[in-house]
Amino acid sequence: MLFREFAELCDRFETISSRLAMIDTLAEIFPFLSLEDLPVFVRFMRGKIFPDWSSERLRFGPRLLYEVLAYVIGKKQQFVISAINSSGDTGLVVEKLLEKREQTMFLSDDLELLEVYARFLQMAKMSGRKSQQERMRSALYLLSNASPLEGRYLSRLMLEEMRIGVGEGVVHEAISKGFSVPINIVERAHQALNDLGEVAFLAKTDPTALANVHITSFRPVKVMLAQAGSIANMVMAHGFLAAENKYDGSRFQFHKVGDQTAIYSRRLEEMTASLPDVIAMLSAATDHDVIIDGEIIAMQNGKPMPFQMVLRRIRRKRDVTAVTNTIHIHPCVFDILVCDGETLIDRPLSERRKILESVMKNFVTPQIVSDLPEVIENYYHAALDSGNEGIMLKALHSPYLPGNRGKLWIKIKPEVDTIDLVVTGAEWGEGKRAKMFGSFLLACQDENGELLELSRVATGIDDAMLAELYDLFKDKIVAKRDKTVVFEPDVVFEVGYAELQKSTTYAAGYALRFPRFVRLRDDKDPSEVETIDSLFHRYGMQNKA
Ligand code: AMP
Repeated sequence: MLFREFAELCDRFETISSRLAMIDTLAEIFPFLSLEDLPVFVRFMRGKIFPDWSSERLRFGPRLLYEVLAYVIGKKQQFVISAINSSGDTGLVVEKLLEKREQTMFLSDDLELLEVYARFLQMAKMSGRKSQQERMRSALYLLSNASPLEGRYLSRLMLEEMRIGVGEGVVHEAISKGFSVPINIVERAHQALNDLGEVAFLAKTDPTALANVHITSFRPVKVMLAQAGSIANMVMAHGFLAAENKYDGSRFQFHKVGDQTAIYSRRLEEMTASLPDVIAMLSAATDHDVIIDGEIIAMQNGKPMPFQMVLRRIRRKRDVTAVTNTIHIHPCVFDILVCDGETLIDRPLSERRKILESVMKNFVTPQIVSDLPEVIENYYHAALDSGNEGIMLKALHSPYLPGNRGKLWIKIKPEVDTIDLVVTGAEWGEGKRAKMFGSFLLACQDENGELLELSRVATGIDDAMLAELYDLFKDKIVAKRDKTVVFEPDVVFEVGYAELQKSTTYAAGYALRFPRFVRLRDDKDPSEVETIDSLFHRYGMQNKA
């Protein structure tokens, strides 16, 4: 398939608003794609270059893209940045700029879909001193040979943001329809494989294998998530429940086969190099080949330490031993997904728990099972007293649903009005803070994942945290203007506030009154930040109270 054909299809999708029409169109296309094109096409449609389980990254941020684009069109980088700042849509700006260039260029080579993928893969694998230059050279090749429309989607792919409205559910249904396989098999296979491209490939080549997929070691699956809820409702809905402490740490997924081990974060990034002590503890605790799920917490004198300590450990990639001696961390294991090659996610929690207890000699989290609200209530208060965030309640019959934030797992914690938002920019500080960022611009998301700004936060950040934030954000700057900078939207803040107000200042239509920085949530993905729907709900609840 030519990349031009892919780009034309994407352009067509931008004009389709009906979900059914999208499903039908994709279902018609899928069976005609070659076995090589199909998985790449499916991932690209979703704005993904590599499988979700893969830790491969293009490592080509907006700054490099602007530099290469400036070169391709023969203008200064500032010209490109100004154009992007005034439009806000990188893809459309790239297209427009390439249109202007086109009048002065001879015809370029046709790009193949697979060739684009191969170039991206090459870019991801480049390492060493000159790798940045080499990556830029590859991007230069692609953009120089791209038509304006191809440029729109090449740049969006490089930034992994397609904006064509093709959601995961649409692709599931299109695979189901296009290859005549039941939707539940497609969804289950996607949870276990964590790669829609491979799901489509199997649906085309081997539907029986699709119905029997297993989780593969060293290909992390998404973690199961929880909703907020109440003890009474949960007991009413499910009867007997498992209750566990809600540890205030960072999620991990540990994979072990023989002597080979790896550990991944909630965002499925590999953390193996940062956590040799945790790996040693977990490896020593079992003789089995496992994939287990849990939370790592920092401890001092038997008491949990602030969550930031865990993040400090995880972020540390060099001189790890220096911090392993000062920040002791401890794994709390609460689930098992695979044991000795058998995928367990469809089994009920009660069975998985028995297996977990029989294969792990240590670190399994304490748990009570009860259907009595008052017993669970007491457990909750004890959890808070011992320094935990609250408790988790889990339906005993619940399968493990990767990536799902349903009602089978519920979190109970004290009511505090905090909200998770993604940081989109900052303003430089003043006086002795002039070389650091002083206030941060925050955004929530709409139903398509588009970011909508709704507040700035400057309070609640001490000098040490300001310095830490400067370090974290300095490589994420994509544009500078006077006293403000724009960031690649990659980091999540948890922010407290007194009240939500309607506002015409911010795109979200709301603003936070008295916003206050609570903590950095760099274990959370920007796709997990507050949605405009839940903001609306918060506003309604607040005005009812
Ligand atoms: P939240 O981050 O507020 O959505 O809460 C869900 C998170 O709580 C999970 O992603 C885990 O990182 C964490 N957690 C802490 N203790 C547990 C537990 N016992 N079971 C499941 N998740 C837990």
